[in-house]
Amino acid sequence: MINDECSDSRRATCGYRSHGRVFCHLKRHCGKLPWVWTLLAMGLGLVAVAAGHSRLAHHRIVVIAIDPGHGGRDPGAVSHGLQEKNITLAIAKDVAALIDRHGGLQAVLTRHNDHYVGLLRRVAIARQAGAQLFISIHADAGKPSWDWATVYTQEHDRTALASDRLADEITASLRRIERTDHDRHANFVVLREARVPAVLIETGYITNTHQAHELASARFQHRIAQAVFRGIESYLSQK
Ligand SMILES: [Zn+2]
Repeated sequence: MINDECSDSRRATCGYRSHGRVFCHLKRHCGKLPWVWTLLAMGLGLVAVAAGHSRLAHHRIVVIAIDPGHGGRDPGAVSHGLQEKNITLAIAKDVAALIDRHGGLQAVLTRHNDHYVGLLRRVAIARQAGAQLFISIHADAGKPSWDWATVYTQEHDRTALASDRLADEITASLRRIERTDHDRHANFVVLREARVPAVLIETGYITNTHQAHELASARFQHRIAQAVFRGIESYLSQK
């Protein structure tokens, strides 16, 4: 009974001094409460620290390789006075900056300026940095009437499913600003060799007058970069 009385009264009257005999039991408990709370707080603190560590372990920095297509002696597509290598570098740097500003993410560029980097070297740079995603940025050439973006993934490898999910997110994000196709039948070297979820994004056709004008503008390049970044973010949030 004392225990019942005590626990009932403790809930109801802890600290209520005119409670007679019950208070004697309560006093003992109430007197211990600060220590109990201290121990509880210490316990909770330890749990919080442990949880923090496990969160950190769970949410380690995700390194994302951003690959600006072409460079140096390889200009890529050339049209309307534009060279693909310059557009890809500008957009890729923008995507990398957005990634680096996001806590928990880190970008590694496969080239930082206008120099030639071989395809396998690009993949090696990503791998050495511990990249968990590989995003290659390009601009396309085709018929003058063609004016859309395309997101490519490798069809037959062990990362194909994850690559497709990444491509789906980036495609959905890009579709808010331009028509975008998701093509699952590419066999590009960087996609084949990346061995992590990888996509190659043709951001538009520089052979189309309107798209060439857009792709040359810093404002549109930034919109593309933001769309790519949001797609990556969305993919990572669902992992
Ligand atoms: Zn290209």
